[in-house]
Amino acid sequence: MRLFVASHNAHKLREIAQVLSGFEIAGDDPAGAEETASDFAGNALIKVRAIAGRHRGEWCMADDSGLEVACLGGAPGVRSARYAGEEADSAKNNALLLANMQGAADRRANFTCTIALVDPDGAEHVVTGKCFGKIALCASGAGGFGYDPLFVPDGEERSFAEMPAEAKSAISHRGRALAEAAKLIANASKGGD
Ligand code: IMP
Repeated sequence: MRLFVASHNAHKLREIAQVLSGFEIAGDDPAGAEETASDFAGNALIKVRAIAGRHRGEWCMADDSGLEVACLGGAPGVRSARYAGEEADSAKNNALLLANMQGAADRRANFTCTIALVDPDGAEHVVTGKCFGKIALCASGAGGFGYDPLFVPDGEERSFAEMPAEAKSAISHRGRALAEAAKLIANASKGGD
């Protein structure tokens, strides 16, 4: 089955194809769709709606994700990619996060990934995956991307950046949301929902 994904990010498309191995994944850039919503679901819906009109009768999806830190009231949240400014890179975002958490005893955090889907009949669905853990005192590991060097998932000693990609996907917010999306598509294709 074909699934159109609202992304031009090759890394993300590969990760999705690995988890949803039963699907033929096709990327479609939601260019111009501005992520102006105040939550992940809103932004995922904005992106999937931007491509769904081009693929009527097919499954389409978009995801939106980010890091939520308890002692920062859920920040950086939907602003995760640009926490340290519009042009900020991961190093700057991570440095600002550590600075804002200096001395914080409560280091609980979670990643959230929300996936919005449009089914072949045009109906919209939303699924979410979360991964809980804590923010380390300093970065470790060279794998992954974004906040991975700072995030240590519950039950692990390693940061996401120190884990092999498959081990991260097995417990990550995105892996969990993708598993939910696969279930939803399989149920809908069987005639249920
Ligand atoms: P996106 O919505 O998947 O593009 O993610 C937005 C931002 O959230 C990214 O630019 C990262 O800063 C952060 N983020 C999302 N998922 C991850 C992850 O798995 N590891 C590290 N950072 C992530």
